[in-house]
Amino acid sequence: MTPEEFRRYGHAVVDWIAEYQQNVERYPVLSQVAPGDIRAALPPEPPEQGEPFEAVLRDVDSIIMPGITHWQHPSFFAYFPGNSSGPAMLGDLLASGLGVQGMLWSTSPAATELETHVLDWLAQLLDLPDRFRSGTAGGGVIQHSASDAVLCALLAALHRVSGGRTERDGVAAGGYTVYTSGQSHSSIEKACRIAGLGADALRKIDVDPTTHAARPEHLRELVAADVAAGLTPTLVVASVGATGTGAIDPVGALADLAHDAGAWIHVDAAWAGVAAVAPEFRWINAGVGSVDSYATNPHKWLLTNFDCDTFWVADRAALVGALSILPEYLRNAASDSGAVIDYRDWQVPLGRRFRALKLWAVLRWYGAEGLRDHIRGHVALAQEFASWVAADERFELVAPHPLALVTFRLTAGNEATLELMNRVNASGALFLTHTVLDGATVLRLAIGAVSTRHEHVAAAWQALRAAAG
Ligand code: PLP
Repeated sequence: MTPEEFRRYGHAVVDWIAEYQQNVERYPVLSQVAPGDIRAALPPEPPEQGEPFEAVLRDVDSIIMPGITHWQHPSFFAYFPGNSSGPAMLGDLLASGLGVQGMLWSTSPAATELETHVLDWLAQLLDLPDRFRSGTAGGGVIQHSASDAVLCALLAALHRVSGGRTERDGVAAGGYTVYTSGQSHSSIEKACRIAGLGADALRKIDVDPTTHAARPEHLRELVAADVAAGLTPTLVVASVGATGTGAIDPVGALADLAHDAGAWIHVDAAWAGVAAVAPEFRWINAGVGSVDSYATNPHKWLLTNFDCDTFWVADRAALVGALSILPEYLRNAASDSGAVIDYRDWQVPLGRRFRALKLWAVLRWYGAEGLRDHIRGHVALAQEFASWVAADERFELVAPHPLALVTFRLTAGNEATLELMNRVNASGALFLTHTVLDGATVLRLAIGAVSTRHEHVAAAWQALRAAAG
């Protein structure tokens, strides 16, 4: 593709996306295809001759679009949001256009330095502790996902608690243990598996029956029992905005216990953390002043399309100690000087995209003011939705809902609740998901799409009420 052809088709693609943004409401939120439908429409053989790009765009319309679940639809209320925005897409396009691989500072100094700078900016915007800023022993890095962040936190924790022995000897003999609440995300168990600890190394901290937040007293008991058994408490993961209910753990109390036990404490604030752009929501981060690491996903609720997880550590030496291997072919004068950051040492893969460009574009386009409005608007809509649920005796609220996730159910029971969800989702008019809490089926309505307005939330409530019978 020549630059001229790229210009022509690039304009066509940008027009296509703008059109999609304008018309996204016309689609059913949840894709209506059956398993195998999309593949059945694709030719079995790859093309022998190159095809014009128009043919690709035509097939996007006819084959791909029916198989899309529309995350940017204003009535997408499932999981947690996966925001996308114009500036983020354009920043991503620039990154693709530059095509740099920023594994080392020297492979594109701007990719590293912009990332360091933008992570400092975001830490400032979220009012995170100074110890996460790049001018200290700590600093920030963009990870692919919150799952990568917790894996990196675990590897750094193992490095620290073993004095670096785990990189040499493995983890088999260490008796390393990890703690998090039963409400925390499954990525923590996955990290235990990947790191070689096994899922049995993970202890689930009991939660408070009302707030669904981890109970520090139970963590204390779990740690004491493990220490008595000769095991090594290694990592505690606190959730700020747990996936099922949005529960917020008492981070300070968990951090104190973790530190007393010599363990690393990581905060998984994948969804909720970005709410701290608005000062009135900064209470969610109470206690993070003494944690070892913190992760939140601008790719969930801060207008930055996937992938962009922001991960900060207070002690970069432990992270780099866990992940750095220096083969001769990567040696260069800048790295040898010790004066630069090589982000390959802060993550699992070697290669990395220039993701800072899209986050930079978002922060500059919206400004702190625009980001605060974005978060506040969704929280206000969720509060209104919760008030409607509370006023209808057929429904009940299930957990505290200080942000933009509302959990609720039909008082008629599990089966009725699940049926209700299936009915409204099948209509294509909206999409929400469920979880199970203490044996009860619970619906989750997460507000966060950029295009969601009052009318969409009101329509969702009308649909739920009508389907509830
Ligand atoms: N942690 C929490 C609290 C989450 O809600 C999620 C995903 O929803 C994750 C971690 C995993 O996120 P990612 O897809 O970035 O790995």
